[in-house]
Amino acid sequence: MAKKPAELIWFNGEIIPWEKATVHVMTHAIHYGSSVFEGIRAYNTPDQGTCVFRLQEHNRRLFDSAKIYRMTIPYTLDQINQATMDIIRANNLKSAYIRPIAYYGDIGMGLQVPFGQETEVSIAAFEWGAYLGEEALKNGVDAGISSWNRLAANTMPTGAKAGGNYLSSQLISMEARRHGYGEGIALDRNGYVSEGAGENIFVIRNNVVTTTPKTAAILPGITRDTVITLLKEMGYEVREENIPRESMYVADEILMCGTAAEVTPVRSVDGIQVGNGGRGPITAQVQDMFFGLFNGKTPDKWGWLTPVYDKS
Ligand code: PMP
Repeated sequence: MAKKPAELIWFNGEIIPWEKATVHVMTHAIHYGSSVFEGIRAYNTPDQGTCVFRLQEHNRRLFDSAKIYRMTIPYTLDQINQATMDIIRANNLKSAYIRPIAYYGDIGMGLQVPFGQETEVSIAAFEWGAYLGEEALKNGVDAGISSWNRLAANTMPTGAKAGGNYLSSQLISMEARRHGYGEGIALDRNGYVSEGAGENIFVIRNNVVTTTPKTAAILPGITRDTVITLLKEMGYEVREENIPRESMYVADEILMCGTAAEVTPVRSVDGIQVGNGGRGPITAQVQDMFFGLFNGKTPDKWGWLTPVYDKS
């Protein structure tokens, strides 16, 4: 087993030791990818202590992903929100990456079997640093465009955060690694920019910010929504429209964002330098505002932070 990242895990309604949270080899989700999940972060803030970032939106998306696949999660959204907080507290974490997952367990073989069945649910919470590395946060990541396209519309729904979709992400990410890139970017079935293996993308030129639309085979990220909101707050125009591949080569700045990757500059695409080849000024501003939410410099006027521990 990989190194144990935390002591306890929330497992079908109970908090149990990490090493006891195991599944049977006939678990449906292992065979058929039948799981939906979330990635959520909690940050240690100066004023409110540990806070979960956009808890409601993430767990709402968990239920949306389940709904798309006609899965029944045997808990309410409030219960899952509560359980998310409970497992952070149980592990006494100051900051955390939280991974709720709903999946079909050992319900038998076959593709019709899940119909009408309930899922199992677990929630892990553990400390996890910068996904693309601290150095990438500062100086940017070298990205490469993947030879793999994202899923075509009406094949598998990219708007659902489902386990099976991450086979596509693994192809993209591992190809990038093989070519020596920090992350891979995929085009959609029409040849337009889609997203990174686990991040949404923003391309900036002449102070106009464009991000790929929901119709470009993306998972519409909660960080993407956060970045759009912060950019508008800063007075920038943000467009959601198709981005041709070559726009990345001539961009002034590119940034990638996601819960794990946070807000990361892209300094090159396919070996072509983006802008000045480091963190551009607008990306730096977005990063300041984004991380400002957690270091107390950006007031949380959107109610995005949920405190985990009682201050008393
Ligand atoms: N696209 C993909 C494929 C992802 O896995 C993620 C990470 N969940 C994102 C985009 C960004 O989504 P979010 O900002 O909600 O984490």
